[in-house]
Amino acid sequence: MRSEEPRRGADHNVMREVNRSLVLALVKEGGPVSRASIARSTTLAKPTVSAIVDELIAEGLVREIGPGSTAVSGGRPPILLEFNARSQLVAGVHIGARRTTIAIGDAAGEEVARRELPTPRDDPGEALRLVATEVRAAIAAAGLETARLAAVGAVLPGLTDFHTGVCLLAPNLGWRDVPVRETLAAELDAPVYVHNAGQAAAVAENLEGAGDRAGDLALLYAGTGLSAGILSDGRVFHGVGGTAGEIGHNAVPGNDEPCNCGKVGCLETVASGPAIVRAVHRALAAGGTSSLAVQDSFDARDVTAAARAGDRLAAAAIADVGARLGLAASWLINAYNPALVVVGGGLAAIGDLLLDPLRAAVARHALAPALRGVEIRASVLGPDAEVRGAVLLALQHSETYYRVVFRA
Ligand SMILES: [Zn+2]
Repeated sequence: MRSEEPRRGADHNVMREVNRSLVLALVKEGGPVSRASIARSTTLAKPTVSAIVDELIAEGLVREIGPGSTAVSGGRPPILLEFNARSQLVAGVHIGARRTTIAIGDAAGEEVARRELPTPRDDPGEALRLVATEVRAAIAAAGLETARLAAVGAVLPGLTDFHTGVCLLAPNLGWRDVPVRETLAAELDAPVYVHNAGQAAAVAENLEGAGDRAGDLALLYAGTGLSAGILSDGRVFHGVGGTAGEIGHNAVPGNDEPCNCGKVGCLETVASGPAIVRAVHRALAAGGTSSLAVQDSFDARDVTAAARAGDRLAAAAIADVGARLGLAASWLINAYNPALVVVGGGLAAIGDLLLDPLRAAVARHALAPALRGVEIRASVLGPDAEVRGAVLLALQHSETYYRVVFRA
């Protein structure tokens, strides 16, 4: 519409986009449907519906599946349409500290292929090229074409800048300022969206897990480190530098533990998996007794097992970290007023030993009106949250599919 003045053109395009997503949503959720029934449900003119449907068919998003049963009017049976989810693919890549998981999803988010490999230990560029090779192989093994790849979600265990697609710092990988988006986009010839694990887990839990599509959700991602994924109306809140949610690096007064980020006294040094282990060591050094005292080395999982077997010192170390996480949750509740706080990351698996003291600390610290009605739940998706989040974020960033998949 080049001849029209810009304002009018913009309105026209918006209307066209709205009508298009209405039609697409009807085919996806109400299908198989006919053009006539779309026109009835949307109150759009039949020629408008036909034009949109032709366009969607040409793009491969919708296909004709032949005539339905005899029309009510007794005329020719209408041609039925259905959504072609396989017309476009997305790839979700979760590069974890130890394992890398790749999931290929269709345009409706359904997984069509998955593979897992040990996280490559090569230099970051080489590692990303290897991951891209695996993405292509996963698509090929499913009998599909890489050319259909519409978007890639890449999820990393560390500080990421969504806007530049750079992994700023991932101590577990030894990565600093790695251009993840640039490298993967060049390899896969598709737009790449880079998030940290907490953001991805928040999106996945919201849509498919503990979140019940609450939309306004805060996820506390507690594992080796601590971060938060903040969702507003289902979308990740990124901040101007893309680092929003890094609550683990808020300083706790009186804490002088050095942190991976280079600063001292960060919350994650006393509210994470390593913090549980340090709490046990401190209690043992202070003369406490525990079944863990005879072990040369132990991790948060061993401490959890000991606590479940009745080891009081182990249970107290977990409760201490739980209370610190509750403090973090109270900050999120006061700052963002979410409908729901989900506890995710590796520590979520500890369960009530961690969550009971966490909830008690929230009740102590959060502002009453902000806390009203807020539920605190553990992750439902467990170790699947990050890669599912990667798939869903790739879909979410392809606007058309956002409306199809994420429409309530
Ligand atoms: Zn820090």
